[in-house]
Amino acid sequence: MTFASLGLSDALTRAVAELGYDEPTPVQRAAIPVVLRGGDVQASAKTGSGKTAAFLLPLLEALRARPGGSVRPVRAFILVPTRELAAQIVEAVQQYGRHLKKPLKTCLAVGGVSANPQMLALRGGADIVVATPGRALDLVEQNALRLGQVETLVLDEADRLFSLGFADELNRLLALLPARRQNLLFSATFPPAVRTLAERLLQEPTRINVDEGE
Ligand code: ADP
Ligand code: MG
Repeated sequence: MTFASLGLSDALTRAVAELGYDEPTPVQRAAIPVVLRGGDVQASAKTGSGKTAAFLLPLLEALRARPGGSVRPVRAFILVPTRELAAQIVEAVQQYGRHLKKPLKTCLAVGGVSANPQMLALRGGADIVVATPGRALDLVEQNALRLGQVETLVLDEADRLFSLGFADELNRLLALLPARRQNLLFSATFPPAVRTLAERLLQEPTRINVDEGE
């Protein structure tokens, strides 16, 4: 099994080869084709199983294949529980996307640092925003972040979004997204709060659970 056989184009397969990824992990094998065809995904797999690339690689492929206009509305919104995780995802976008002919613009929207540089960066348009809930809402209220044209929502480490107490912020953000969109929900575990969210959020999702037998 190769990354190319999952439907990823040369720019992306080359980047992962350079990172030393010999073949896709089980969660990547299961998720990448579904994400590429626009389907919703609910995936649980233990820490270290490669969930980031499972959603980022097909997301980058889809954004590459359907270039946006010059206005650059936010098309992919990735919501995570911590700023460390957000920074890791932005770094992964840069690594996986390094050979794309038309670079995708990614903005961070996380707390703990001044909002001004983030507002400035967003003003120039962004294809992808990686955010923590509180700062995302702040930036929406400042009119710096607009979520009305988001095509794909990713919730990564969804269990920790709840255990860290972000349920309210999450609900307020979900209300700002267009009703018609792709939803990708990744989590190490699926406690009741995440299950309830998944039922509410996902449209005919493909359910992936690769923890057994690994
Ligand atoms: P998770 O989110 O499931 O905890 P990560 O996405 O953070 O896992 O990936 C864990 C590590 O595995 C990272 O260092 C990543 O670069 C690496 N990795 C991801 N996919 C592959 C692959 N197909 N082959 C080798 N290493 C990989
Ligand atoms: Mg992860």
